[in-house]
Amino acid sequence: MPRTRKSKEVKGELYAGFLNTVEEHEEDAELPRDEVGRRKIKRQYAELLGIRIEKLKGRVLNRERISKTVEGVYFICNKCAKVCHSLDEGLVEDSANENNLCRECAVGS
Ligand SMILES: [Zn+2]
Repeated sequence: MPRTRKSKEVKGELYAGFLNTVEEHEEDAELPRDEVGRRKIKRQYAELLGIRIEKLKGRVLNRERISKTVEGVYFICNKCAKVCHSLDEGLVEDSANENNLCRECAVGS
């Protein structure tokens, strides 16, 4: 699969503009490493897991290497029970892998 966009250091304002234009094209998921692609994957996880999300919340679902130094983590927030990604919702990781939280819930708790 061709990498059409390098999403390492290029982010910043370039990336923000790119996101706005891409918002409508969610079906073009040729870019699994950007936010749109991740959103789709998160939705697939949620559909796949269904009610099991309740049992799995707080756990890491999957880890992916985005670049040499950046790791992306899909997880289910223990508080809001949403499928989240460390780069989008943020991850406050629990070393026991039982109480992982998205940034918003971690701040609110
Ligand atoms: Zn949360």
